Amino acid sequence: MSIEKEEFQEKLLSWYKSGHRILPWRDDPTAYHVWISEIMLQQTRVEAVKPYYKRFMDALPTVYDLKEIPDEKLLKLWEGLGYYSRARNLKKAACKIVEEYDGKIPDTYEELISLPGIGDYTAGAILSIAYQKPYPALDGNVFRVLTRVFANPVDILSTQGKKEIRDLLLSILPTSDNSSFTQALMELGAVVCIPSGEPHCHECPLKHMCIAHQNHQELLYPVKSAKKKRKIETRYVFLITCNHKVLLRKRPETGLLANFYEFPNELVEETTDVMDEILKPFSIHPKKIEELRSCKHIFTHIEWHMIGYHIEVEKETDGIWATLEELEHIYPLPNAFIKYKQVLENILGKSTK
Ligand code: SF4
Repeated sequence: MSIEKEEFQEKLLSWYKSGHRILPWRDDPTAYHVWISEIMLQQTRVEAVKPYYKRFMDALPTVYDLKEIPDEKLLKLWEGLGYYSRARNLKKAACKIVEEYDGKIPDTYEELISLPGIGDYTAGAILSIAYQKPYPALDGNVFRVLTRVFANPVDILSTQGKKEIRDLLLSILPTSDNSSFTQALMELGAVVCIPSGEPHCHECPLKHMCIAHQNHQELLYPVKSAKKKRKIETRYVFLITCNHKVLLRKRPETGLLANFYEFPNELVEETTDVMDEILKPFSIHPKKIEELRSCKHIFTHIEWHMIGYHIEVEKETDGIWATLEELEHIYPLPNAFIKYKQVLENILGKSTK
């Protein structure tokens, strides 16, 4: 079965134009809006991104505002979205755009790809959605739709597989309205040819030409080689409180979760004795120690299995002691500790009664 390029474009576009989700970044798809939204949408669900996008645009409506924002305020705006290097790269790229491109987001692939945090996918999304240029933008949704429609068994995690699907997409790009075409493919993958479970083929505008569907083999695609297992780390996390405040620590300027604040936490070695060894560096004298529930946080390559302790102390030692109010508005706390922040709210809520 061969697939007609014009038929593919026409069916996809008329389906998209007959109704799609209302997304705030689609109202006015400027290069700035597309760039910020696409970076936020990496590894994050659309519904979760919406309030962050609004808050971000209210605070930083232009690339000039993004260039000027202090790092801590930027992390606070991003708090909860995770993958914080994305936020840092946004600011670095904004500096370059203002200094080298007079504040205009470039409209060539080579210039875009040279900006921090912008890879092949984001460059393609900006060029096609904002600038209407015929560039491929391949996210997970688009890979899924294309490998199914063409029943292409390449491993999409391999360089060769990615290139093959990219070439395939290039061969079916329209000569006009690339903005709608790119968004339509992404939309189809998000709401019809869905990432988990059975795709909704009966609603799909491409069902008559989709080879995987014709062969009842939708779930065989896309093919992905097995991923490497994540490393697991067990950590003790300490909510050390005194006078309705909690002790915080600032993370180093580089590495995982750089520059964030955190609840003191330590890696558990097999030989570690919690109270004797781990608490020593904090020079604290516990009045009460209570074990809390365990929590898990998954990063890209590592998993933290956390065992929490609440430790109440007599008096404040050196360090940053924050009230709940300050924790909410001043100190950016990474996602990994959000569950313990909720536990803390219960503890300090109770202790003020
Ligand atoms: S027919 Fe089914 S498998 Fe094929 S693209 Fe549409 S939803 Fe996906």
